Amino acid sequence: MTALIIDGKQIAQKLRAEWKLRADRLNAAGIAPGLAVVMVGDNAASKIYVRNKIRACREVGIRSEEHLLGGDSSQETVLGLIDRLNADAGIHGILVQLPLPAQLAPPIVIERISPDKDVDGLHSRNLGSLVSGHPRLLPCTPAGIMKMLKSTGLDLHGKEAVVVGRSNIVGKPVALLLLQAGATVTMCHSHTRDLAHHTRRADVLVCAIGKPHAIGGEMIKPGAAVIDVGINRLSDGKLVGDVDFGAARERAGWITPVPGGVGPMTIAMLLGNAILSAERYAAELGIKLDA
Ligand code: NDP
Repeated sequence: MTALIIDGKQIAQKLRAEWKLRADRLNAAGIAPGLAVVMVGDNAASKIYVRNKIRACREVGIRSEEHLLGGDSSQETVLGLIDRLNADAGIHGILVQLPLPAQLAPPIVIERISPDKDVDGLHSRNLGSLVSGHPRLLPCTPAGIMKMLKSTGLDLHGKEAVVVGRSNIVGKPVALLLLQAGATVTMCHSHTRDLAHHTRRADVLVCAIGKPHAIGGEMIKPGAAVIDVGINRLSDGKLVGDVDFGAARERAGWITPVPGGVGPMTIAMLLGNAILSAERYAAELGIKLDA
């Protein structure tokens, strides 16, 4: 069997066309959707991610502001900026690019963002609403993964889903979303005994580990939908995921490539959250948006 490729770029492009229509409607109603991106320090990878996000905003009609703070900025400085952005009526989404320098505590920084503007969906209020089954702003990568699974036409009810990795950003929230979609979910991590025993049972396998080729072809159930979240740069500069793509492709039913899989979906869902926040703001003001 050769797996069908789940083309994240293509799905993201379709979503962006939809976001553009919604951004146009907002702009026409006098609400220019605004996203503030906060970056502390000059981490090379973060710079690329931020540049891509800003470009993506421009393409769909979201106004973006970049706030670059020095790598030695204090927590008070960062929290002060977030307070100002929280109070700014022209900003509907705030994103703090992670990772942060060591002197800053990510949980404190994230908790300071207004939950209504938390377009990364990482504030405890947004994660809590996901746990309770009534999500408001979903974390971007997990939300993108669910869209990709939807594109396969797979009915997730009763399926065995295995998530490898238990981070707050990817593993835990995607497990909750799969659970909500009716799958039977198993979570694996670095202490899991016999990882292959679990992955081989998975109708849906989500890998968010951060280790190149940690999941070999023999660890995959024939016909499974395999979502590879990992982004790993090899010594020759090549980008690969957590899954051995070549071998896995011969067993899986569907598989996401790296690059061109989950990455573009994460950005698309971020834009979607920014637009949703702006629409909620318009609704609070009683502004009706043309259908
Ligand atoms: P974290 O480092 O926060 O979490 C990694 C998880 O993998 C941990 O739960 C860890 O277990 C688990 N793990 C590590 N080694 C093993 C192993 N050998 N077997 C089983 N589990 C293992 O990473 P993130 O969730 O933030 O990111 C994961 C990957 O996804 C990275 O490559 C990252 O770059 C990428 N990523 C990609 C995104 C995209 O848009 N495409 C978005 C976000 C992340 P334990 O908890 O026990 O330590």
